[in-house]
Amino acid sequence: MSERWALALHAGAGPLQGSDYSASETHMHGLLEVGRDMLAAGAASLDVVEHMVAGLESCGLHVAGKGASPNTDGVWELDAAIMNGSERRAGAVAALVGYASPVKVARRVMEATPNILLAGRGASAFARQHKMEAVGDPLSYYVPVASRTSQAALGAQHGTVGAVALDKAGHLAAATSTGGVLGKTPGRVGDTPLIGAGTWADTRVAVSCTGLGEYFILGNTAADVSARLRYGDESLPAAAGGALADMAKLGGEGGMICIDAAGQVEMVFDTGGMKRGCVTSQGRLEVATFS
Ligand code: ASP
Repeated sequence: MSERWALALHAGAGPLQGSDYSASETHMHGLLEVGRDMLAAGAASLDVVEHMVAGLESCGLHVAGKGASPNTDGVWELDAAIMNGSERRAGAVAALVGYASPVKVARRVMEATPNILLAGRGASAFARQHKMEAVGDPLSYYVPVASRTSQAALGAQHGTVGAVALDKAGHLAAATSTGGVLGKTPGRVGDTPLIGAGTWADTRVAVSCTGLGEYFILGNTAADVSARLRYGDESLPAAAGGALADMAKLGGEGGMICIDAAGQVEMVFDTGGMKRGCVTSQGRLEVATFS
């Protein structure tokens, strides 16, 4: 057991200049304090990232969980993934309809099936079978962020949520959850639930991404951070920055949070900001939205 631990959160890149994010910053600060207490008490990184992402899903302040927006058919299809770096296990759901916490369903997929990704009707049937919390009437459950500001302005914004953590046992974990891009095509799945694209954890690094998912898929961006550490012997800032730049060269934009096995935290983005925060055993505790 080492005394070192670290936790980072994001709630989407590309916040709108001039908007007030104090409610989301206050909420994230509170979550980080909870995560800090869990990690300091010896909790597993996997439990912490699940708890953090479930908290970000249920607050209704981001384009994930309760705050997500429907697709063009008026259906809420949500994506999420979770990954345990030390055991290299993962679970994910794509285009999940009707359940409050996609990340909790993703964890159940990891633990209760030999599969990694369940999509669409199969994912909903699995969640029902496992008695996961259902949404009920979507029109009264969801509070789409899009209803509180203009759709056009939100087009430039990403509200995916994610968490990465290193625990005292030296284990890394990552989790990400999203409503996807606003006004998405029915059936569209982004990078979030695709292991290696938007979510990754191994024994070197844990990564959670946000941004235009199609480009993160093409860049295999989250796993690229680990590949750069492994084969390129790059530092964590160089690996995170390099993976993001490679994705941006394809035409995308966004950001990511990373924690390595030494507890170093990187929170990078190529947009005007990213809702983000971190807390470490070395006493760092910060929350920010813009650059
Ligand atoms: N990456 C997410 C997706 O493409 C969207 C986002 O991060 O805002 O589904």
